[in-house]
Amino acid sequence: MHTACPRCDSHRIIQTHYGRKVGGTVGTTAGAISGAVSASKGARLGYTVGAIAGPTGAASGAVLGAIVGGLSGCVVGVRLGEKLDEDVLQGYRCLACEHRFSPHPSS
Ligand SMILES: [Zn+2]
Repeated sequence: MHTACPRCDSHRIIQTHYGRKVGGTVGTTAGAISGAVSASKGARLGYTVGAIAGPTGAASGAVLGAIVGGLSGCVVGVRLGEKLDEDVLQGYRCLACEHRFSPHPSS
């Protein structure tokens, strides 16, 4: 992608992923917490499996709930962060004049 600075027309542009990084971290944490909290579903599944596999099944069910929650939370967080990067945080920065601008395609 070739992007020029709208202010000074420089091509020394870097893309910032601040929102994406923050969104991913926040999303993963929030997802893992809500996954662990709502792990009753996973635990219940674990208990069902646990009837066959033993008491470790319940524990791994809860862990599975946290992992699944964390993963889906990360995906949502990264998407949210990408939107933030585009709309709020302005995804590009000019190294020549420090101008920040949004990656809205002009053509
Ligand atoms: Zn510039």
